[in-house]
Parts: sequence; structure tokens; C-alpha cells
Amino acid sequence: MDNCIFCKLANGEFPSHTLYEDEDFRVILDIEPATKGHALILPKKHYANIFELPCEYAQKVFNVAKNMSASMKEALDFDGFNVLQNNGEAAGQTVFHFHMHLIPRYKDDNAGLEMPGKKAAEYDLTEVADVIRAKVK
Ligand code: 5GP
Ligand code: ZN
Repeated sequence: MDNCIFCKLANGEFPSHTLYEDEDFRVILDIEPATKGHALILPKKHYANIFELPCEYAQKVFNVAKNMSASMKEALDFDGFNVLQNNGEAAGQTVFHFHMHLIPRYKDDNAGLEMPGKKAAEYDLTEVADVIRAKVK
């Protein structure tokens, strides 16, 4: 993808604060961090979102998240850790190259990532479960 900034960052064509790199991924610091240490896992190949991401990469990306969580915990001694991944504008995705957020959390950091709850009550859970289960492969 010629115009994709994350393709360029992932492949080292634009400078970044790189924390880790292997043949498939680069992990960099987010330029507008939600908290100290907020990082992004970027695949070097362009996939817009989780729907495009091949299963092989989906497995690898969580291994990277797992390893990074341990290293970052040792380095930053945070109190909690969010793994976040947005798909589509409605979900808050702003850069359309798959990425996974690694967000250290500190007591009282007010990062504002909490989810508004109580949505389920507006739906019939049994009906929703049936519709989804019918499509699970
Ligand atoms: P999204 O909202 O798509 O899930 O997250 C996009 C993230 O990419 C944001 O947290 C934003 O701060 C970060 N970001 C956007 N442009 C750049 C950039 O040029 N460099 C880095 N390091 N992060 C970026
Ligand atoms: Zn890209």
C-alpha cells in the first residue's frame, strides 16, 4: 500500500521508537500515547483489519502481545494492561492498517478506555446468541 503510513512505519521507511521487530511485525510507541508506554503492534504486510488478517498472523500477533506485556511490565511496573484492537470507523479505527494497542495502565491514570456497560439489556440475549452461533465455523 503506497499511501499507508503504518506500512512505512512497520517496514522502517519512516522513523519510529521501535521496541521490538521480527520478520512479520514491528512494535512501536504510539505517537499520541494514552498512557506512558502505549505501544502498537504492526504487521509488516498490509491488512486493513481483523477481517483481512490471515489466521497465521492472528496467532502470531497474540504471541507478540504476550511477550511484550511481560517485558513492558518489567520495564514500567504498571498496575494494569489493556490489549485493544479497533476495526472500522464505528469501532474507533483511524488508521486502516491492522494494529494492536498495548496500553499500560496506572492506578488513577484516567485514560478513558472504560466501556459503557448495560447495553445487553436492550437486546434479547438468547436471540443474539442464536444468530451468532449459527455462523460460528
Ligand atoms: P486506532 O484509532 O486506528 O485504533 O489507532 C491509531 C493509533 O495510531 C492512534 O493511537 C494514533 O495515536 C497512532 N498513530 C497515528 N499516526 C501515527 C504515527 O505516525 N506514528 C505513531 N507512532 N503512531 C501513530
Ligand atoms: Zn499499510
